[in-house]
Amino acid sequence: MNMNFTADTDTTSSADAQILDTVDRFIRERVEPRAQAIDADNVYPQDLHDEAAALGLFALAVPEAYGGLGVGLRTRLKVIERLARSSGTFAVIVCTVPDGLDPLRAHGSEELKQKYLPGVASGELMPAIALSEPSGGSDVAAMKTTARRDGQSYVINGDKTWCTHGSFADFITVFAKTDESAGHRGITAFLVPKDTPGFEVVRDEDLACLRGSPQSTLRFTDMRIDQSLRLGDEGEGFRMAMLAMDDARLNCSAQALGIAYRCIYEATEYAKQRVAFDRPIIEFQGVHFLLAELCTEYSAARALWLQAIDDFEAGPTRQSGVIGSMAKNACTAIGMKAPVEAIQILGAAGLSTDLPLERMMRDSKAYQIFDGTTQIHNWIIGRHLQREGLPFD
Ligand SMILES: Cc1cc2nc3c(=O)[nH]c(=O)nc-3n(C[C@H](O)[C@H](O)[C@H](O)COP(=O)(O)OP(=O)(O)OC[C@H]3O[C@@H](n4cnc5c(N)ncnc54)[C@H](O)[C@@H]3O)c2cc1C
Repeated sequence: MNMNFTADTDTTSSADAQILDTVDRFIRERVEPRAQAIDADNVYPQDLHDEAAALGLFALAVPEAYGGLGVGLRTRLKVIERLARSSGTFAVIVCTVPDGLDPLRAHGSEELKQKYLPGVASGELMPAIALSEPSGGSDVAAMKTTARRDGQSYVINGDKTWCTHGSFADFITVFAKTDESAGHRGITAFLVPKDTPGFEVVRDEDLACLRGSPQSTLRFTDMRIDQSLRLGDEGEGFRMAMLAMDDARLNCSAQALGIAYRCIYEATEYAKQRVAFDRPIIEFQGVHFLLAELCTEYSAARALWLQAIDDFEAGPTRQSGVIGSMAKNACTAIGMKAPVEAIQILGAAGLSTDLPLERMMRDSKAYQIFDGTTQIHNWIIGRHLQREGLPFD
């Protein structure tokens, strides 16, 4: 396959270009040949994890002071985008680190950061984040997990679900209610080491998407943790979760864009060489208009994503959050449409597991659900329009 993984339209510094070159080689030589098998076997690819760790991919989201690489957000997200052009699963494996780390990075004590961040940077420690519960994920304020203060510790009880890598993460950021009467203001975040008594992995769920990167259901029964493991103050958890989502939705968009790019590429190459009625099918208007639409929607979504990254890096505001929500919805929409239409262009061959398109169609659906569903982001955008007006000049 001679796909141009490095196709890019915006500028990158030479140091960052070097990182992206290294990543492109790793993808071509190591990830691409394994991508279908990771999905089929549904087993976490620990050997590729170790190779990615040696390349520093888990250090991308860690500050330099704790062993990280200190690269900019744009480059970190482009790494995720490129990985997703080959394997949605491996992109999630790398991007779960920033998602799971955000509350510790922003609100952890110096002692906790020293204890955990260097291990994350080296790929030895895996973080996870547990917000969603069996009773619901979108309505965060309705969570049922409680953390009752008892002297110098907290006692946590409740169930969490869909926790990416929850069954083997070394530590998990758990959100729980310290004040059940205070709605979203009663939520607090805690860092829970996996060997804490009362921590139980109920099961890994068997999902159609992102296979090999499991989502786990967890149970906490009288799980006692020291107050030093609380992240931030009591009641700050909801705000922390929303801030983590600002970064996560850009990450999720990167994955959807990666899949869209690959699917448009595969469909275009196929349409140029597949002959029907004595001519390449790309010459039929029904096919080339479809490809033109995909290409245009992809480019527009990616431009919005780049703007959202710039706005977020300039300092998160309510407006940058809304641009991020619009980018997430635009990117995940083309991320879903591209594999569906690419399969249409390939006909029956598009559904073959020899090609990545059906896998990418399954993976892409997840992007419209996690890190805030499409409807929740539309709600955020609509609320901004109602209260503050248009989110652009
Ligand atoms: C692959 C994958 C990985 C995940 N990883 C994690 C993780 O690491 N940690 C974690 O905590 N969670 C994780 N999740 C869970 C994810 O965050 C939730 O699935 C998501 O928040 C939606 O929650 P839900 O599935 O309970 O759906 P619900 O909240 O029950 O929503 C069901 C439907 O109702 C709609 N809906 C809800 N409220 C509204 C509204 N106000 N207006 C309009 N429509 C509405 C939703 O859009 C959705 O279509 C993951 C999910 C997946 C699929």
